[in-house]
Order: sequence, then C-alpha cells, then structure tokens
Amino acid sequence: MERKRKEDYIIKGIVGSPGIVIGKARVVDRKKIDIFTYRLISETEAPSEEERFKYAVETSKEQCSRAKEDMLSQDAKDVVHIMDAHLLILEDRMLIDETIKRIREEKINVEWALEITMQKLLRAFKEIDDEYLSARDSDIGHVGKRIFRNLLGKKEENFVDLEEKIIVVAHDLSPADTVQMSKDKVIGFVTDIGGRTSHTAIIARALEIPAVVGLEKVTEAVEKGDSLVVDGTTGIVIINPSKAILNEYLEKKRVYESLEKELFKYKDLPAETPDGFRIKVVANIELIEEIPSVLKHGAEGIGLYRTEFLYLNRKELPSEEEQFRAYKGVVEELHPYSATIRTLDIGGDKFISRLELAKEMNPALGLRAIRFCLREVEIFKTQLRAILRASNFGKVKVIFPMISGVREILQTKEILEEVKNELKATGVPFDTGIKIGIMIEIPSAVTLADILAREVDFFSIGTNDLIQYSLAIDRVNEHVSYLYEPLHPAVLRLIKQVVDCGHNGGIKVGMCGEMAGEPLHIPILLGLGLDELSMNALSVLQVKKVIRSITHEESRQLLDHVMGLATASEIRSFMKAEMRMRFPMEFGK
Ligand code: PEP
Ligand code: MG
Repeated sequence: MERKRKEDYIIKGIVGSPGIVIGKARVVDRKKIDIFTYRLISETEAPSEEERFKYAVETSKEQCSRAKEDMLSQDAKDVVHIMDAHLLILEDRMLIDETIKRIREEKINVEWALEITMQKLLRAFKEIDDEYLSARDSDIGHVGKRIFRNLLGKKEENFVDLEEKIIVVAHDLSPADTVQMSKDKVIGFVTDIGGRTSHTAIIARALEIPAVVGLEKVTEAVEKGDSLVVDGTTGIVIINPSKAILNEYLEKKRVYESLEKELFKYKDLPAETPDGFRIKVVANIELIEEIPSVLKHGAEGIGLYRTEFLYLNRKELPSEEEQFRAYKGVVEELHPYSATIRTLDIGGDKFISRLELAKEMNPALGLRAIRFCLREVEIFKTQLRAILRASNFGKVKVIFPMISGVREILQTKEILEEVKNELKATGVPFDTGIKIGIMIEIPSAVTLADILAREVDFFSIGTNDLIQYSLAIDRVNEHVSYLYEPLHPAVLRLIKQVVDCGHNGGIKVGMCGEMAGEPLHIPILLGLGLDELSMNALSVLQVKKVIRSITHEESRQLLDHVMGLATASEIRSFMKAEMRMRFPMEFGK
C-alpha cells in the first residue's frame, strides 16, 4: 500500500483494549507463510512426510503447554482455557487423520495436505455468520499457522527478551503470543484482523495492554522503525505522528492516565449521591473471562449476563451440565454479589446452525429471544434447569428478554414452574425464592408495564432494543445510525413510564442497555429514579464518579427541565453544557 502522507497517516480500527500509547513499531507479520506444494515422487516418501507432520504437531503441543504454563504463572489464569482449546484442536481427529490420509492417498507433501484440511475446517466455521464464532475460527487459524511454522522450522516469535519498548504490529496475534508479551516491553499492539470479542482483545483487556484490532491493512501501512500513536479508547492509530499531533496525544495520554488513576478511588465507594440516594452499579458480561475486570472496576455484581455467547461458540447446543458449570462458575466467582442471568436471546441474525431456522426478512422482528424459547421448549427447559441448579451456589436472578405482552410472561412462568417441580421431585437443590425479571425493550411492554409489574420481581430496560423498536431504527444499520438517539424525548418518556409503573407496582427498575454506561446520561437516569444501572465494566468507575457528585434533588430538577425540551439535540446540548460545567476535564472539549 502506498503511504498517502509521510506524517500523520491515520487508520481507524476497533477498540480492543483501552489506553493510549506512543512508541516504535515492530511489524510481526504472521500472515505470510510461504508454503511449497508438490507431489510425492514415490510412495516411499509418504512415511517420512507423516513423520514430519507428527513431529510438527508434537512440537506445537509442547509450545502450547509451555504457553499455558506461562499463563498460569502470570496474572492470566482466567484465559488458560484458550490454550486448552488450542491443545484440543491439536488432538482433533479430523485434523490429524485427514491430513495423513491425504498424504497417503493423494500422494502430496504434508504442507499441501495440511493446507487443504485447514481450509476445510475453516470453511465449516465460516458458514456461521457470527462475530463470536469468527473469533473461534481464528483459533483454528492460529493452530494451523503454528504447525506450519514448525514444519518449516521457523522459530517462535520472542516477546520476552526484547531490548526496547515496542508496539507490536501484526496481521493477527495468537493468544499465546499476546500472553507472552511482557507489559514492560510490549506497550501496545495493533492488528489487521480481530473484533471486540476476539480472544486476543479479551486477553489484551485482561493484561491491560492498549490495543486496536480490525485495522485491516495496518501491517501493509507500517514500515520498520515507524513511530505510532495507538489510541485504544477511540480505535485510532496514527503512523508517524507530526510534532503537533504527538504533543496533542502526549497531553491526551497524560489526561487519560491521571483520570484513570483518580477514578480508582471510587472503586470501593458506594454509588450514592451526596444527599444519600443509593443506586446499584453493576456490569454486563458476555463471557466469564470478563469477571475479574468487573470486580476490579468496583461493580456490585452482574446486571446482565448474555448467555447466548455460550450457544454461539459451537455447532451443537451446550448440554445442561456444561451450562450449569458455566453459570455456577460465574455465580461463585461473583460471591457475595448477585448475577442476573438472561435466558437465551437467540434467533434473528444470531442462530444456531443445527436448528436450521429459516432466514428471516426482518430478523429483529422475527423468531427471537423469548419467542424462540417458547417455541423450542426443550432447549428453554434445559437452560432453566442449569440456571436453577446454579442458584444453589450463590445469588442468582433470571431475566427474560423481548417480552412483548402479558401472555408471554405467563407462559414463561408456567414453564419455569414445571422445571422447578421436576427438580424438586428429583431432589435437586435450587433457590426456591429465585427472583425473576423481564427486559423491557419493546414499546408494547412499556404500554403494559403496570400489568407486567404484577407478574415479576423486577424490570430491566434494554435501551439498545427499546430505541430500535420505538424510533424504528435498525441498530446495526450504519446508514440510520445518526438517528439512534438515547436522549430522544420519546425514549425518555418511555423510560419514565416504565420506572413509574414499576415503582407503583412495588418492584425495582434497572437499565442494562448501552445508555446506562454513558456518563452524559447519568444525571437524567438518576432523576428518573432508576434503581440499578448495568454497563460494560470499564464505564463503572466513571459512572460512580458522576453519581457521587450530583445530588438526587439536583438531578430531579435537571430532569424536569429536560422533559420540557422538544428535541434530542436540545437535550444533548443542555446536558453537555451541564456536564462541562461540572466536569471540565472530561467534558471540556
Ligand atoms: C438491550 O436491548 O438494551 C440489551 C441490553 O440487550 P441486547 O443488547 O443483548 O439486545
Ligand atoms: Mg436487547
């Protein structure tokens, strides 16, 4: 790729792990492994090709086991299972047997045979259009590359004995590479591929190394010795920053780091306004690996555990036992806090291939979430059994997604009762008083909130979908994203209605959409009287800070004013001015 400008070449990627770093680039291109393919001249060559293959696989296993040891000895115990997954792939019969069969039957060299087998394995994964799964197909890719490197006698990249601090630039990094990065030497990394939920990004967050992923062509754009600015808070990478940009980012880095440091003083402080209004600040998780970060940032539990990620990571459904182990793990790790486990929100664009659901014209309006579970009752019951069993090991609440009316919650409760009775009959212990709630994310549920409040113990407002359905804006369509506005007066009125109906009915009302983790919204949410806010772990400290600096009384006055404004832009400008005044450092620009 031709460099467009000598200085300040900016590329935008996906936020992998927050933080700002400035340093020298070291390009580690793991993409290009030149593979020679040739036919075997005589059959006698096949055994030695097989031997080479077996040796490369064994060497790969040893390297993975070593990486696992490293992970165990470092502060990365929660990601050890990734290396276990790599070791499992290295035992995979299809990978081993098919490659050997090809060498023998097609009389081709091992690299060629392995390449065909890997492509077949990857194709099977790629058939499923899902961000989480594509991250898993990269695990297969990492293992494949490792075997190729060993076949070609290439050395492992060494991230341990580095002489200077570097920012690693790579097409992709395996979790083993990432975990070997000493924080003293590797100060950041950027990759061509990967998404928010790719394992590499998860480990980067666990190790707290700033990272930007999914930059597409960063390995082509960066040359040896280039200097880089990596802004893991916005997903921006700047190659060869000019003096002016460099100074700007040095200042941004200084502000970011001092704010971060200052924020940790809120970790163990309650989320309470100066006049004593207490609100619960909890976190959303998709994966169990996120829990250490949740606790480190001072969240008081999990307000939304999106369990569908357990179902998406495979072709077969997870068994009751497997789910039970996962939920129990979460519940025990969270002790003494509680976990709100959401039942499967699958369907639409996230479907399990085994079920072969028809492609739908409007997936967001299709057979999704609770509708799917009420249709596939056995799948639903298996999950409910696993959740109930886990409730015996800590504090668990269950929440049901996409409830549109009263009939659905009645049907759901009936099924839950059946499962409870089955467990009782077989003497399986569970929390008989387990609290149940519903996500309020469809406008019809808002309209019926007073009646729904009689049926459940709590509400949690899912603003991601509530905004999509009330403003008629596809939440994944970038062409209408400019209309996606949490501060739209219609949205605020809907939220107010839910909170008021919930409280009149004597139940707690929380919020778990992205709206809840945005500091700018917090005074409004306080004024509305929400009992709980659930957000990504990295927003928790900032949100606590805002809560602790504004009185409930002030927030109610602010809300009164906001509810009188007619447009989202007026509300946004008003809130920005208000926050700028209160927090000049964070909202100054
Ligand atoms: C929501 O809709 O706000 C929500 C939290 O659920 P999800 O983002 O998983 O649809
Ligand atoms: Mg939702």
